[in-house]
Amino acid sequence: MQTFDVLVIGAGIHGAGVAQAAAAAGYSVLVLEKNKIAAGTSSKSSKLIHGGLRYLESAQFSLVRKSLKERAILCRIAPDLVKLKPFYIPVYKKTTRRPWQIRIGLSLYALLGNLHKANLFKRVSRKEMKKLDQLEQKNLQKVFQYNDGQTNDVKLTKAVMFSAKQLGAELIFPVSIISITKNDNNFSVIYKADNKENKIQAKVVINAAGPWVNELHKLVSSEVNSLEVDLVQGTHIILDAPAPSGIYYLEAADQRAVFVMPYEFNGEEKTMVGTTEKLFQGKADDVKPSEEEVDYLLAVYKSYFSNQASQDNFNVIQQFAGLRVLPKDDGSMFSRPRDTILHWATPGLLTLYGGKLTAYRSTSELVIKKIKSFLGKGRRIAYTDQLFLSTEL
Ligand SMILES: Cc1cc2nc3c(=O)[nH]c(=O)nc-3n(C[C@H](O)[C@H](O)[C@H](O)COP(=O)(O)OP(=O)(O)OC[C@H]3O[C@@H](n4cnc5c(N)ncnc54)[C@H](O)[C@@H]3O)c2cc1C
Repeated sequence: MQTFDVLVIGAGIHGAGVAQAAAAAGYSVLVLEKNKIAAGTSSKSSKLIHGGLRYLESAQFSLVRKSLKERAILCRIAPDLVKLKPFYIPVYKKTTRRPWQIRIGLSLYALLGNLHKANLFKRVSRKEMKKLDQLEQKNLQKVFQYNDGQTNDVKLTKAVMFSAKQLGAELIFPVSIISITKNDNNFSVIYKADNKENKIQAKVVINAAGPWVNELHKLVSSEVNSLEVDLVQGTHIILDAPAPSGIYYLEAADQRAVFVMPYEFNGEEKTMVGTTEKLFQGKADDVKPSEEEVDYLLAVYKSYFSNQASQDNFNVIQQFAGLRVLPKDDGSMFSRPRDTILHWATPGLLTLYGGKLTAYRSTSELVIKKIKSFLGKGRRIAYTDQLFLSTEL
């Protein structure tokens, strides 16, 4: 029977990131995925590689600092996958966040990003404001512009997994995991692939099953301690409207932030609008956009781009929903911590709850630090902040 140092369950961005970091650190790695690469949340995100300006409102400063640092690393190691884009924040008479508040937020953002040139902001001139993508001009007072990153989440996940495989990690999909049995010093795992049952052993198991993390715990033979979480649905819509020249950071009627951004759809540049935050109940496999969410996003778009929305060919051409994993709490979903929680569900089985696409690499490095006590030091073969990621590989 084959024994691996690390078994990773799930081939989303976290599974791919941990596989890459573990293989780079010199460990043998197997990834088991029930569907295909990036089948879960990692294909349903807003596709932003960002510090998260809005997290400043809930005082998540260390998450913002870390994410800005990761953004800079990803722009360097994955230049054809992560690109800086201009972000625009329009302020109207009715906007609740006033210009002075936005200025403070953007100044803090720049500071947390070490005042690097890419993190500075400016006020758009009156002349430029008029040229912005048919943006509603009535009662428009000011527009601020700063920079953040955009990616294709599926391509990024595939590129990280490709890098992991180049370092020696193995990936098998689709599989059905049947049981995870805890032994004295390792785990025995039985899974089905191609209608055949297979058994392997792993010294450490990483549960990177996204919204399915607690479901996976049910397959473990020994007692497992699961954290209580809420699954929060987020929907995006793709519109048959020409892509905007940058990313618009808009305030919805309920004061939530909604983005309008360029999106490549079947080889053409279209407009994507997202996202929502709706408590999800049910099975993670069944998540899908609701009519109410689509109407909410359309209403936000129409209130800022009424000219564009009145065109004859204006249509929703695609919609998708994903699930955030957030710690259970009575507080608003908007202000709950968005950082990953690394939790020992049982000794040797580390579960990843939540997190950001942006911070996948630093999260994965943290996982490696945690599992070292079980595995000892590996013979490092590479550093993830030096490994080039590309769609062309
Ligand atoms: C609406 C929305 C917008 C977001 N926008 C952004 C953004 O713009 N920027 C950002 O940084 N972050 C964003 N995030 C967060 C980010 O997308 C997620 O943190 C990240 O994609 C989670 O990746 P993951 O690998 O943990 O989970 P997933 O991508 O869900 O991967 C889990 C994988 O595990 C597999 N799996 C599940 N159960 C099993 C099993 N029993 N056996 C084998 N495999 C299994 C699934 O098939 C899946 O492929 C957003 C999240 C949401 C919901």
